[in-house]
Amino acid sequence: MKTFNRRQALVLSATAATGLLLASPTLGANRPKIVIIGGGFGGISAATVLKTIQPDFDITIVTETDTFSTCPFSNLVVAGLRSLKSITFSYENLAAQGMSIKVGKVTTIDAVKRVLSLADGSNLSFDRCIASPGIEMRFDQIPGYTEELQNLMPHAWKAGAQTLQLRDQLSSMQQGGTFIIYAPNTPYRCPVAPYERASLVAHYFTRHNPTAKILIVDEKDSFAKQALFTQAWELLYSGMITHVPFSETGGIIEVDAKNLEIMTPFENFKGDVVNFIPPQKAPKFLLQSGLGGNGLWCKIDEATFESKHAPNIHILGDAALVGDMPKSGFSASVQGGICAHAVASLMNGEPPKTAVLLNTCYSLVAPDYGISVAGAYRINDEGRLRSIKNTGGASSIDASDEVRKAEASYAYDWYNSLTHLMFG
Ligand SMILES: Cc1cc2nc3c(=O)[nH]c(=O)nc-3n(C[C@H](O)[C@H](O)[C@H](O)COP(=O)(O)OP(=O)(O)OC[C@H]3O[C@@H](n4cnc5c(N)ncnc54)[C@H](O)[C@@H]3O)c2cc1C
Repeated sequence: MKTFNRRQALVLSATAATGLLLASPTLGANRPKIVIIGGGFGGISAATVLKTIQPDFDITIVTETDTFSTCPFSNLVVAGLRSLKSITFSYENLAAQGMSIKVGKVTTIDAVKRVLSLADGSNLSFDRCIASPGIEMRFDQIPGYTEELQNLMPHAWKAGAQTLQLRDQLSSMQQGGTFIIYAPNTPYRCPVAPYERASLVAHYFTRHNPTAKILIVDEKDSFAKQALFTQAWELLYSGMITHVPFSETGGIIEVDAKNLEIMTPFENFKGDVVNFIPPQKAPKFLLQSGLGGNGLWCKIDEATFESKHAPNIHILGDAALVGDMPKSGFSASVQGGICAHAVASLMNGEPPKTAVLLNTCYSLVAPDYGISVAGAYRINDEGRLRSIKNTGGASSIDASDEVRKAEASYAYDWYNSLTHLMFG
């Protein structure tokens, strides 16, 4: 029997969604109209797979901006190791494949009439809608932290202007200053990214500001790959990064954005730069359209991604609660492919197939030092997408320098192949 090692299995997973071809449907004169909200990881992966398996469907992608900057690798931009342009992609190739691109902001979805409204006053009707619009910040959660003041302590948790702002604050920080990263409690977009950011900021400091310090003020006590990060920090950036867990602060009570200060019951933290990553939720337009129930995230059928609150609307990626899968670009992309197959089946009156979904989160602790955590997920008898026992896992704590270097190269390969699959 042919066996695959972990890397081969992951490479296969990136193409699994496109490889799972269904029989071609017989369609009448009316082309099924699918509207996809979101021009990021989930939305574009769903669009490209759906176009491949159902070239006769009428597919429209609605996205807020005419280009997309990826959060993956945006920490390299913050650390001055890549340009924002190098992680920014256009939708030209998707348009050339026959998909319509509508640049605009969706404000509501009427699930009964199957129509969505945009901020420019236009409407789009659909037979089925796939939504992967990512996250929104919760500006009502922490006293002192408001939408108006966010640029004083940029989150840079959506790649773009704030990524550059944080990069510029980092490079102009005084020698020996303190760079604070505030990390929220889960669930939030990319649970390991605050720690990758701390690592790459430290990489920058070792070259340009060697007496600077990094404080991670954390709303939790532990985080994924913690032993691996801690080991690497000791090796590469000894004494530069301090992780302050929830148990030592009692949690945030307030911020003073103008004075770059975070207040907790036990201690206040004042930085020269504060990267404040606030708590998050699904975008308002989904919640206000009744698609979140009473919660902050959208509940879905975890096999088809169809909303629990409205038929014909499928929600995936960061905005949804997708079983045990973390909120990552890899997850959103794999979910997009599976959702495209489910939508095709449902439109053709066929039962949707289930699949094994894979995810790997790579983190660059330095440009040539990578670590990862992987998981495999399957629908169980109760219809829940659960981790499959004895699969996946994190990089070995005992790995050699060569292995860490190889894992960094897998991270670059993963990024290049996925963005190529999505944007051409
Ligand atoms: C610093 C950082 C590093 C990360 N690194 C990694 C990594 O290495 N690997 C990894 O797998 N993941 C990583 N992630 C996580 C990854 O970025 C997200 O999980 C992923 O982008 C989620 O995909 P999505 O489709 O849900 O949302 P997105 O990719 O954010 O796409 C959302 C799209 O919806 C559009 N949109 C939003 N609202 C509207 C609206 N009202 N109307 C129209 N369009 C709208 C947006 O314009 C955008 O095009 C990282 C995240 C961060 C913050």
